[in-house]
Amino acid sequence: IKISKSYKLASRDFHPDDTVIDIKGVKIGGDNLVVMGGPCAVESPRQIDEIARLVKNAGGQVLRGGAFKPRTGPYSFQGIGVEGLVMMAEAGRKHGLLTITEVMTPEYVDICAEHADILQVGTRNMQNFDLLRKLGSIQTPVLLKRGFSATYDEFLNAAEYILAGGNPNVMLCERGIRTFESYTRNTLDLAAIPVLQSLSHLPVISDPSHGTGRRELIEPMAKASVAAGANGLIIEMHTDPDNSSTGDGVQSLFPDQFAALLKDLEKLAEVV
Ligand code: PEP
Ligand code: MN
Repeated sequence: IKISKSYKLASRDFHPDDTVIDIKGVKIGGDNLVVMGGPCAVESPRQIDEIARLVKNAGGQVLRGGAFKPRTGPYSFQGIGVEGLVMMAEAGRKHGLLTITEVMTPEYVDICAEHADILQVGTRNMQNFDLLRKLGSIQTPVLLKRGFSATYDEFLNAAEYILAGGNPNVMLCERGIRTFESYTRNTLDLAAIPVLQSLSHLPVISDPSHGTGRRELIEPMAKASVAAGANGLIIEMHTDPDNSSTGDGVQSLFPDQFAALLKDLEKLAEVV
């Protein structure tokens, strides 16, 4: 049955082959497995430098860290801003890692793109259409997170905004959705991985950190994501999670757990 879809450029009908995004030699999409790791937020030069070193040693390719944080309450830590972008860029350069950081408003897209290799759109901004349009006007790769209440169709239409603007470098990120379950912070929708890959040619990245909100669930959900065919993972890791600035420490791996997980993933990626 031919189903008419509201999105075109994001659809596999339009583009049968997997999109592979090549960023300075790191290939995201197709048969490659990319691992992005790092703190929820950039806190200091020492913090981001030390975590970058650990991500690199563990075999990760991309350093994650937020300089602009989309916090649910206005009195919570909001990120250190442009200074954080500079600190993370320096750590990435020094340790040979790509960098990814969140951008929340169209006005900050250019400065974030100047300092980071990949721009993240957070779950709360998946339908910030002005932001998506601005991201469509540049060529910097974008990791678009699924809105926590978004259907696959809404998610792919959000990606379509960026693609339609002329930026083909989009990856989709499943980061958990809101359900009735409160034991976990969100419910990681593992089925989203094969479904999105059948509907779309874009790489699909899984975020088991925000997808569960619980450190002990990151390892099994990361492995399950790879078994389900994810093209990559984005995982929070911190050297001192109990004292991290955003409260996402409870869903951050300790460095040794991160390293052990990546070792296991290597073996798993060979099997699946
Ligand atoms: C994050 O990556 O730290 C983040 C805020 O993610 P999300 O938008 O998925 O909540
Ligand atoms: Mn976080």
